[in-house]
Amino acid sequence: MPRYDYRCTTCGEVFEARHGFDDPAPPCPNGHATVERLITSAPSMLRGMAALTSKNATKEELQDKWAEETPKLRKKLVDKLGEETVAKHGPTLNMNIKP
Ligand SMILES: [Zn+2]
Repeated sequence: MPRYDYRCTTCGEVFEARHGFDDPAPPCPNGHATVERLITSAPSMLRGMAALTSKNATKEELQDKWAEETPKLRKKLVDKLGEETVAKHGPTLNMNIKP
């Protein structure tokens, strides 16, 4: 079942719902009927991370996402800046690399 994020246009509540693609949008938890679907399939990795963080993803989900994306990001940086620069200036990236 796909998962969608919604924002209530009345009170601004952001909530998550699982339902079929063609099913109607669920109402706001506070009882308002008018909600808008938020775009969660952001192409950018950083926006994906932000979305995960903002919707209370579990620690495991975040770690999985981080472990999956970090080596890719690091490789891009190494290609662009060189191994030495990344090793020196990217402590967060280096820290999360799996051996
Ligand atoms: Zn509402």
